[in-house]
Parts: sequence; structure tokens; C-alpha cells
Amino acid sequence: MTKWCYSFRQGEAEGGAALGDILGSKGAGLAEMARLGLPVPPGFTISSDACRHYHTYSRQAPPGLTEAVDAALKKLAADAGHAFGDPKWPLLVAVRPSGRVSTPGLMGTALNIGLNDQTVAALAEACGDERFAYDCYRRLVEIFCCVALDHEHHEFEEPLEEFKEAKGYARDSNLSASDWREILGRYFEIAKGGFPQDPREQLWSAIRSAFVSWHSPRAQSYRALHEIPEDIGAAVVVQAMVFGNIGGDSGAGVAFSRNPSTGAREIFGEFLANAQGEDLTSGLRTPVPIRKDAGKPDAGSLEASLPEAFVELEQCAARVERHYHDMQNMEFTIEGGRLWLLQTKPGRRTTSAALKIAIDMANEGLIDRETALSRIEPASLDQLLHPTIDPSDRPLVLASGLPASPGAACGEIVFSNRDAEEVAALGRKAILVRIETSPDDIAGMHAADGVLTARGGMTSHAAVVARGMGKPCVTAATGLRIDYDLQSFTVGGRRFEKGDTITVDGSSGKVMAGAVRMLRPALTGEFATLMGWADKARRLRVRANAETPSDARAALKFGAEGIGLARTEHMFFEGERIVAVREMILADGASGRRAALAKLLPMQREDFKELFEIMAGLPVTIRLLDPPLHEFLPKTDTELANVAKAMGADPAKLNKRAQELSESNPMLGFRGVRLAVAFPEIVDMQARAIFEAAIEAAIETGKPTHLEIMVPLVFAKAELDLVKARVEATAKAVEIETGIASRYRIGAMIELPRAALLAGDIARSAEFISFGTNDLTQTTLGISRDDAGAFLKSYVAKGVLPTDPFVTLDAAGVGELIALGCERARQARPDITLGVCGEHGGDPVSIEFFERIGVDYVSCSPFRAPIARLSAAQAALGRSTYGGSDE
Ligand code: PEP
Ligand code: MG
Repeated sequence: MTKWCYSFRQGEAEGGAALGDILGSKGAGLAEMARLGLPVPPGFTISSDACRHYHTYSRQAPPGLTEAVDAALKKLAADAGHAFGDPKWPLLVAVRPSGRVSTPGLMGTALNIGLNDQTVAALAEACGDERFAYDCYRRLVEIFCCVALDHEHHEFEEPLEEFKEAKGYARDSNLSASDWREILGRYFEIAKGGFPQDPREQLWSAIRSAFVSWHSPRAQSYRALHEIPEDIGAAVVVQAMVFGNIGGDSGAGVAFSRNPSTGAREIFGEFLANAQGEDLTSGLRTPVPIRKDAGKPDAGSLEASLPEAFVELEQCAARVERHYHDMQNMEFTIEGGRLWLLQTKPGRRTTSAALKIAIDMANEGLIDRETALSRIEPASLDQLLHPTIDPSDRPLVLASGLPASPGAACGEIVFSNRDAEEVAALGRKAILVRIETSPDDIAGMHAADGVLTARGGMTSHAAVVARGMGKPCVTAATGLRIDYDLQSFTVGGRRFEKGDTITVDGSSGKVMAGAVRMLRPALTGEFATLMGWADKARRLRVRANAETPSDARAALKFGAEGIGLARTEHMFFEGERIVAVREMILADGASGRRAALAKLLPMQREDFKELFEIMAGLPVTIRLLDPPLHEFLPKTDTELANVAKAMGADPAKLNKRAQELSESNPMLGFRGVRLAVAFPEIVDMQARAIFEAAIEAAIETGKPTHLEIMVPLVFAKAELDLVKARVEATAKAVEIETGIASRYRIGAMIELPRAALLAGDIARSAEFISFGTNDLTQTTLGISRDDAGAFLKSYVAKGVLPTDPFVTLDAAGVGELIALGCERARQARPDITLGVCGEHGGDPVSIEFFERIGVDYVSCSPFRAPIARLSAAQAALGRSTYGGSDE
């Protein structure tokens, strides 16, 4: 026979945390606290099976539930010492839904159930306080009408306010019994006869309303959003009332077993004297802190006003925390100086508090280090690494876009590289605003403090580059209309000019007017400690995607163990280099190209040397030139004229050549290894720059350079072999010239489905393979990573895709190709190194997948390295508990 009701009282309980599914979080917490012998008012929890049955069978309570509730009420009467519905000394109860996880939209607590015109007088007599009894009654009528009869709270609060005004009372004044009687009359009129006098009818209506609220639209959409199953249902807790509104030595409050903002090991919370739970949230009266604030005058804290109850609360909080091995958030009521606990749940905390609590608890022996690691949500570390918006500021939000690169920045609006550089040179801050960015904008992005684009996605150029630089970036901002000619943009009917100040928050995707206040949390000792533990626990290595010296230094600072991807094209865009690159592209033949490349060689060599020196001995993977040639072509007449002048060539002829090289689908065009196959001189130059730099750096640092050369966008072994032959020839030539042999490895990037399928073949030539999951996602799904914003949101909203596949790896499709590629590559070359260098290398969920298939390393933006390190540790340990219940 199904068990419908689980009773509890101080000292004993049926069920506990192990039955969380059927008791819900509140019911399970109460049962646990009762078993610990803590002061919990007696009650019982109706199993979530009853709620499930109710919805499965067209809103019918399951057979046997009535009898089970009757039996539980009887037991409750015995435990409480008086009975529900007793006309002389009525037991009142509270009814609360109890979901397995916190679900906004579930019914609020229905208090004081059991009062009616007759029992209110009995209560007044029993406790000798008529004012209190009628206060309870009017609360019941209001709450009951709201939870069971679809009334709104304001229907009751407005007449109450009017009444107080008419009488000349202060907003928070205590009303007399006759005042409450008068107000009750008004409330009954509002209820239009809907309020039942029969206590049992009140109870059953509240229970049914709790069941019904499981399917409220708000609860449903919350579950859909958080992937909480629809069919688990909510349990319902029925519990003897205790009264915080019965005088000055009573009240209601919330407590955290440790400080949720700082993590300090001290009880923290708020208390409102002479109040019931809902008064705390109504905001009508200001609660006081529960503990005295050292060094400050006491503002009537619980510790000062009811010291015994405070000490007991402190002991209970510590006991519950020890029991759950986690910081707890508890609700309590004090009735006539006596403490009662009404709920406990894991407390929400800031990231810095989470770090401190996890480490302290591990040091206190309350949890082990593995559990401490599992308590921190990796993505939340972002909060510690980037400036964040001060939550106490209330800025005007202009637009929302994609949170493409975390952190917040404010500055003057600029629309061009030049302006960004000019503003930065004057020591001011700039936000670069572009319709979308291209490699041409690198200099502007470097100079700016933040980036905002009207188009793009999470892996579009702006997003990838900004993340690499650790610059806040918002892409695809809705409603942003940019007019470069007018040097202004409009959004939401407002117009902003060059020089106006805005703030972008790349963590939330919000764009705000003006300069918003920022917080810059320091990387505390706890951060370093936790990262140290993570490093010991993980198997996956973590490298960074970096090509500039500042990125490389950031990579080391954030604990990366090498560079997994240096995008050499990012070194081609600055200053005079772009002209030489354009000369190289537009040259007539190999000799013209070589002449242009000769200008680039020393610059590349210097760049590589600095990179190798910074990384001293750690692996550095240099990717040969990758982006579409199309992106380098001169776009304006001035740009064309500059190149023509440098080459001594005819601008018209050059223009013709540029037109020939222009492409409709550059991402699927003349890029990656295809450049190397068609223009092998580029490989020669890059390989020479790399080897010469490596030799020089090794001499200077005294450490051999751990060099890897990576060939992008291959789909066949033959492409790799062509490049390999050129690289080997250059290595030999440099060896003959310098007398020093270079040690290096050659590998391939797998970014095309064909390459994944033929990974075994490619691995016969590649000593390592790195999966470029940005392009692999793009080419597997056939979705442009730069333009997907317009429809991807609908795909996710309609459940076609679970998440944005450019953020979290599409494990079913792209992941399958990677797993297959790894397997085939390992078969061909068992000691091959396998890595991932797309944006997914810094995504916690994707990292879990990479751990599972045994990839050797992930490479991500330097600022994501700590996130990757912690995610890798959690993936290796197979646990992460930070997503737990907050009910
Ligand atoms: C990739 O495609 O995943 C990659 C790392 O290369 P890029 O983003 O530079 O195309
Ligand atoms: Mg790529």
C-alpha cells in the first residue's frame, strides 16, 4: 500500500534526506532536523506521489489519502497536545508545498489554517490575547483567498492601508482586536462568501492548491528553463503553527550558518520581532541583524534582545551545518522566547564566500578536498577574474545581447580603431562599437576597454578575440542600429553619439547608459588554494589560446600549462604589417610574394621569440596562417593605394587582383592549409621565423623550446604532407645555417567532418591533433558561426538544440565525430597527443565530455584557464554538486 503521509516531531521522523524525492526539500529538511532532536514543530509531509496522482487522474486525490491525512492529524494532535478543529483550543496548521528543487510559482505558505469565527474566540481566550487571535485570523483570510481562490494580495493590502490612513495610524503600527475585526468584515466582503468556515475544508483547499500550483505557468516555464522534469510533483508539508506575532519576545527570521557574502564562520541573518514569516518579505518593517555587529552600536539585534534564543539558534545552525556538511539557510520563529526551526536548505552564496566556505570546511575536516572542489561552480570563477557591476547601482539598461566575453567596462563610444587608439592614448577608456568586428579591428579592440557589436554570436570574431584578450564584449545587441557615417547609434528610441559614455557587461550581455559602478574582487589566497587542489585532482592538461605577450603572461598567471593555439594571423594585422601582408597576397607570383614575406619575417621572428621566452620550456603550439585571404584584402581606395605605393604597382591592376581573390563564402574558401598548399612561401617564412626564434629563445632562457607546429583546416593527409615537407626542409636549412638542430612536432587541426573521419590516416603524418571545435561545429551543423544569432535562439527556445552548440559542445553530433577521430587517430599512432582548442575547451560541460573520451588537453582563452582547471578536476572526480537544491 502506498504510504501517503510521513510524520515528524522533535526527536523522531518518518523518512529523511534519503526520501528527498517524495518529501521534497522542505519535508526532508524538517524530518532530518526532527531526527537530530532539534526544535521543530510537529507535522507531516504528504508525499509528492499524491501530487503526481492528482495530476495524472484529472485532479482526483488518490484513494486512501483522506484516511492517511486523518490519521496523521490524529498523531499531530497527540504530539501537539490539542486537536485541529477543536472548538475550545484549536490546533492551527501551516501548509506549504515542498518541491525537490526550488520552483518559483509554487504556492506560498498558507498560515493559521483552522481559524474560523468560532475558533478565533477560543484562541483569544486560550492565549489571553484577542488582538493576536484576530491578527492571525485576518492573515488566514487574506492568504487563503490568494492561494485557493485566485485573489491578489493587493486586494487586501489596499483596504488595510486605507483603513490605517483613515484612522491616522502609522504604517507599521499594531492594530487592536476591534480594528482587526472591522478589517475582517471588509475581507469577507472581498472573499464574496468563498472563505470556508470549516477547518477541514480550509485544509483540503490549501492542499489541493499546493498540488495545482505545481502546474502554474510560472512553475512550468521555470522547470522548462532549468530542465527539471515535469512529472516529479511537489510534496505538501502540514505543520503545527508556532507564532512569532504573539508579543515582543516573539518574532520570525532567517539565518545562515556562515556569512553568505564573505564566507566568514559566523551565524548571519535577520530577525523581525512580533512578526510572522511573511512580514519579513513584505518590506513594511525593517528587520534587525541577528547578531551584534562588533564595534557598532547595537540596533536591537536578536543577540541583544533575546540572548538565550540567539545562543540556541547559533547552536542549532552549527548542528545542522555539521549534519549536512554545508552552509545552511534556515527559517525560524521564536514564540514567547522559545526557538522553533521551520526550514533548512543549502544557502546561496557569492563565489568568494563559496571558495572560503569550501576551503574552511575542508580544513575543519567537515568535508574532504574532493567535495570542496565539487562545491564551486566553475563558471562562477569569472566573477573573481573580471570587474563586475556593483549590484547596488541601478543603471538604465539600453539593450541586451549575448554575454560574449565576461566582465564589465565603461567608456566613451568609439566606432573605429583610430578613435579607440586615440582615446586610449589620452588615458581615457573607450568602448568599441561595431556592426561586427573583423581582424582589421584587432588594434581597436586592444585599445578599447570593451566591445559591443550589433551582430555576431558567441564564437564570432569579436567574441573569440575579446575572450582571448579578457575584454568584456557583448555581441548581437538587440535593437542596436549603428550609423558609421553619423558616428552614432540608436537603441530603444535613444540616440548615442561618439564620445557618450556607456557600460557593457559581458557577463550578462547588458548594455547600459552612463558609467556604472564596478567591483573588482581580488584573487584571494582561497582562490589559489582551491586551484592547487584542482590541479592535483585533474587528469586533463590545460593550455591557453594566446599569441600576444600580454595574453601569454595572463595565461601563465591563470595557471595554463602552455599555449595550445597561437593564431599567427593575429600578429599580421598591426601597423605596417598589414600592408606587407597585402603586398604578399596581391603579388603577381612567388618572387613578389617572397619579397613581401621577407618584410614580415623579422617581425614574426620577434613575436615568436617573445612568446617562447615567456613560456620558457612549456609547450607552444603555433598555428600556421589560417584565416580567409578575403579578410586581408584592402577594402577602401586608401588601403589599396597604400599597398600599390609600397609595391610600386598600378592600383587598377591591384584592384583587379583583389576582385579575383574576393570570395562569397570565405569561411569555406581560400583559408587554412589551402593557403599553404597554394602559396608554400608563406610556410617557408613562418617556419623559418619559428625555428630561428626558438633557437634564440632557448639560448636566452636556457630552456629548450617545446615547439609544436599546427596545420589548420586539413581534410586529407596529403595536405599535411605537403606542408610537412616544407617545414622539414626549412628546419634543415636553419640547422645548416646555425649549426643547431630544431626539435619540434608537427600536427593537424581537425575542423572538418572529413578530417575527423580520416583522423587515422592523418595521424600517420601528425604527431598531435587538436580539434578546432569552433569550425568543426560550424562545418558539422552547417551553421555559420558568425551569423547564427538570428535563428539559434529560436532553435534553443523550441528545444531543437539543448543549448547554443558554439558554447557547449553538441556531444551527440560534433562530439561523436571527435570521439571517432580520437579512436581512429590512437589506433594509427598510440602515443599521439590529442587536444581541443575551440572555445569549448573552456566550457565546463564540454570539458566533462572531453574527459570522458580521454582527450589529453584543452586549450582556452587565458581568462578561462581557471574555469577549465576546476572543470577538469570535477570531471575527473565525476562530481559537481553546486547545482543543488535551493528550495
Ligand atoms: C576552431 O575552429 O575551433 C579554432 C580554434 O580556430 P579558429 O577559431 O581560429 O577558427
Ligand atoms: Mg578554426
